[in-house]
Amino acid sequence: MASKTSIIKAVKGMNDVLPDQTGLWQQVEQLCQELFAQFSYRQIRTPIVESTSLFARSIGEDTDIVSKEMYTFADRNNDSLTLRPEGTASTVRAGIQNGLFYNQQQRLWYVGPMFRYERPQKGRYRQFHQIGVECYGWQEPDIEAEVLSMTQALFERLGLKNTQLHINSLGDQASRAAFRQALVDYLSQHQSSLDEDSQRRLNSNPLRILDSKNPTTQSILEGAPSILDYLNPQSQSRFERLQAYLTALGLEFTISPQLVRGLDYYNDTVFEWINTEFGAQSTVCGGGRYDGMVAQLGGQATPAFGFGMGLERLIQMLQEQSDNALSEPQAPDVFLVSLGSPGREIALTLQAQLVNAGCRVLCHMGEGSIKNQFKRADKSGASVALIVGDDEAQAETVGLKILRKQAAESTQEQQSIAYNQVVDVVTNLLKTL
Ligand code: ATP
Ligand code: MG
Repeated sequence: MASKTSIIKAVKGMNDVLPDQTGLWQQVEQLCQELFAQFSYRQIRTPIVESTSLFARSIGEDTDIVSKEMYTFADRNNDSLTLRPEGTASTVRAGIQNGLFYNQQQRLWYVGPMFRYERPQKGRYRQFHQIGVECYGWQEPDIEAEVLSMTQALFERLGLKNTQLHINSLGDQASRAAFRQALVDYLSQHQSSLDEDSQRRLNSNPLRILDSKNPTTQSILEGAPSILDYLNPQSQSRFERLQAYLTALGLEFTISPQLVRGLDYYNDTVFEWINTEFGAQSTVCGGGRYDGMVAQLGGQATPAFGFGMGLERLIQMLQEQSDNALSEPQAPDVFLVSLGSPGREIALTLQAQLVNAGCRVLCHMGEGSIKNQFKRADKSGASVALIVGDDEAQAETVGLKILRKQAAESTQEQQSIAYNQVVDVVTNLLKTL
């Protein structure tokens, strides 16, 4: 009688990336890596787990992330730890701890899983992956233009279409304080109509209300004052300089005065790349300037600018577009058909030799008729089949059959080649196919 064993499933909102998908992921990650290296950015790798206080102090206690989305737990020593919900705080922590900011400038990038306890839906998961860029030590908006130019180049290389760049300026501390007061004055008149979260934030963090997705709150916000009317001359001027750089780069943008982003730490420039054809979770990449964070986490004041890009969203967007720049997974060059143990011993040896010579090889394992193995060889998409049966093993020869004929003159017939010439013959043949 079959025993009833319950099946353990992945945690809700946390996905397996299956082998049919990993090729795509690898291509996207590789393309990012190559492009970032071309722009002279270097990778940083930080732990997935950090002290909870790191995120509370940097992201802000009253953000959705810190107030209700973090995976926080006590370890065996009763220290409060958190699975990182984003990559910026860890990068700053690592930079301070390792002296990366002192009298230096850094162009950095990272990639890896992030964790947020959100309601899972399309483009929104509890474990997701970000690739991010962070720059330290540059005050001027030229670095912002460089980073935005890099994101544009990335979308072009990936062939991602229908992306729009939205930018805004939150101003410096003084501009923000003036705007904050005006916003509170306006919203207080509509207090009872605001959604619950927004009512609470009216005192604690009114700017965050601009990010509310509640439709009634959104309609009230249409009459709200604009942050852009409260920028002081310095913030105004640097926002204009950024726009001039973007225009010089030929980078189109929309100014969105309500763009504030979901984390508290930004000042001056904030931006988002939106995919206009992707429904509710349309932001693929978001970031901005966060000059206060390094000092807030105990380092020496350091200007900072960066972004995080959601890889699940990026990959889903590419998949929904048929004409992206990603290639099909590569089929093997050679499929090794073998019969019996002597045949398989030779097949395994040939596999090692061919791999050493740079070929992609798929070696049949176990018993199976020649007919059945040839079916698998065809299905694998391999260019060439090599056959080692009992006769071949005896004669120290190998059968060779071309499966995917491209060159018109090449023959479809099976040929017999001497065992010690297989690697030369196959590698030369593959060059002609
Ligand atoms: P959103 O407004 O969509 O919630 P966010 O402002 O919380 O995004 P950030 O914290 O700035 O996003 O993260 C940067 C990017 O990471 C987002 O633009 C998005 O592409 C991706 N991202 C954020 N949260 C998730 C999630 N739960 N699942 C998948 N991707 C996510
Ligand atoms: Mg969010």
